[in-house]
Amino acid sequence: MNAPDHPDPQAFVRTADRPLVVALRASLWLIAGLGIIALPFVLILLGSDRPTAVHPLWDFAMGCGFAALTLAIAQFALTGRVKLLTTPFGADIIYLFHRFLSWGVLGLMLTHFGILYIWYQPALGELNPLTARWELTAGRVALVCFGALILSSELRKRVGLEYHGWRILHIALAVTGTFAALAHVLGVGKYSAMAGSRTLWLGIALVWAAFLAWSRLLRPMVLARNPWRVTSNEAERGGVHTLTLRPEGQPLRAWKPGQFAWLTIGHAPWALREHPFTISTAPDRGPEVSFSIKPLGDDSERMAKTPPGTLAYVDGPFGTFSIDREATAEGFVMIAGGVGITPILSNLHALQSRDDPRPVILLYANSTLDEASFREELGAIAQDIDLTIVHVPEEAPEDWQGETGMIDKDLLARHLPDMTHDWPHMLCGPAPMLEAVSKGLTALGVPARRISSEIFDLV
Ligand SMILES: Cc1cc2nc3c(=O)[nH]c(=O)nc-3n(C[C@H](O)[C@H](O)[C@H](O)COP(=O)(O)OP(=O)(O)OC[C@H]3O[C@@H](n4cnc5c(N)ncnc54)[C@H](O)[C@@H]3O)c2cc1C
Repeated sequence: MNAPDHPDPQAFVRTADRPLVVALRASLWLIAGLGIIALPFVLILLGSDRPTAVHPLWDFAMGCGFAALTLAIAQFALTGRVKLLTTPFGADIIYLFHRFLSWGVLGLMLTHFGILYIWYQPALGELNPLTARWELTAGRVALVCFGALILSSELRKRVGLEYHGWRILHIALAVTGTFAALAHVLGVGKYSAMAGSRTLWLGIALVWAAFLAWSRLLRPMVLARNPWRVTSNEAERGGVHTLTLRPEGQPLRAWKPGQFAWLTIGHAPWALREHPFTISTAPDRGPEVSFSIKPLGDDSERMAKTPPGTLAYVDGPFGTFSIDREATAEGFVMIAGGVGITPILSNLHALQSRDDPRPVILLYANSTLDEASFREELGAIAQDIDLTIVHVPEEAPEDWQGETGMIDKDLLARHLPDMTHDWPHMLCGPAPMLEAVSKGLTALGVPARRISSEIFDLV
């Protein structure tokens, strides 16, 4: 029971984040997603002016082609930072959907083309783009674009493709592929010539164009009109730098602990150089906000060195890795690796500023103790709230009495008594660590629904 002078954690939960509302919204989006795939098939089967004497296999091939297009267009909404869509799931899950659905788009396109190639060769006409009908070539361009899009994404890290270059290629292929697919559907016109169907596809094309204009032009323009100024840059342990930013336009609205924002520094907002960073300021503070950046690549290295006075752009808040999703929890287990401490620190700051009495056990892994960013700050927070910190350095000094090595099942068992198994377990760190810790927790009997992780690698 909370002491009467402690605010009720429920008071910080917005209606949109109540578990029932989240589940309802997630279900509605999933139903909408299934509807998007099913709609073209239904339209074909119900179309009153549908060409007669066509075989069901032909209908199926057409349905696959149309479903591929609607799903491809839906992908833009998935990655377009639509808060209404990302809130029930979290950004990492949305990107995971995006990745798997992209395979779905390619699969549907290949099925469409494959059926025509095997059973309806004449319908394909010439394959040579110089002599083929333009609308059929457009369909093939779409297929090549989506194939290249998936290959370049799946192989990006293996072939060492630089992230920024890959991102530009990704967007160019997605826009060209979708445009070509729309041109193909409208140009071929057999089914889309049906009055209702043609209007539907033209409407979808317009919505897509409007969405592109909003996400790539209008939103960056709004960001450009609301610049931020870096007011300080503090070096932390572990090579991390904390930048504090002051709004020169609109401040950030109502962020929750653990959420992140897309930060652009040293480039215009439409330059595609924004990176996600956790907002480390507690939500009841502001309007200044801080981001703690570990140099892990070219841009983060440059951003970590930002001198005070530099202009920046902040797009947020996003994300669901927050204690505010767990208002009824009796306590928390938080497990961080390296810079994965940032969203956890933000949640701890919120517990501290709200005087929240719920216990927290924090396991914090680093290569060495000296590398543990915010070690002193965490110690200070532990003076104010019921926080137990277990540092786990991979290499420890000789006189070190605590844990050392990797976080595994045995280490977890030593620090997490049975009564904590039903608390939320919030994990953030390198992917291999998250995998090993999740396995260890599951082996200890922690239910999967009690484990959530923030993945710093969205693609
Ligand atoms: C929700 C979230 C919160 C994060 N919070 C923090 C934080 O508080 N502090 C911190 O130091 N790091 C944080 N990160 C990680 C940070 O975003 C990456 O380290 C940074 O984007 C790397 O960019 P780079 O150009 O320096 O490195 P690169 O070498 O270009 O990229 C390294 C890897 O980072 C990923 N990445 C790069 N750019 C982007 C991008 N624009 N969008 C998505 N992924 C990208 C890619 O998978 C890439 O392979 C967070 C990431 C996410 C997803």
